[in-house]
Parts: sequence; C-alpha cells; structure tokens
Amino acid sequence: MFVGWGNGRACDACDQAITAAELEYETDVLPDGRPLHFHQKCFATWEAEL
Ligand SMILES: [Zn+2]
Repeated sequence: MFVGWGNGRACDACDQAITAAELEYETDVLPDGRPLHFHQKCFATWEAEL
C-alpha cells in the first residue's frame, strides 16, 4: 500500500488520469502482483466493495 501524488497515470477504477494535484493510492492485492492505482475517492469506493 503506497500513497503519493499522482503522475498522470490512469485510475484503475474510473480510467481518468490521476493528476499531480490528486493523491494516488497504489495497492498490490491482485494475485498476479500487478499494482492497482486509484484516486483517493475511487480507492475508498473500491475498498468498500471488497
Ligand atoms: Zn478514479
């Protein structure tokens, strides 16, 4: 679990870019180890659906 400022990468929840003005949440919970990147609000939504 890593939290930092975005760098323009697409959010895995909404497919919108995570800009440098927004916090990016990175998590590696997938079985294949591929990290997921979310906006702060998208991470909260995603986590609530687990
Ligand atoms: Zn998003």
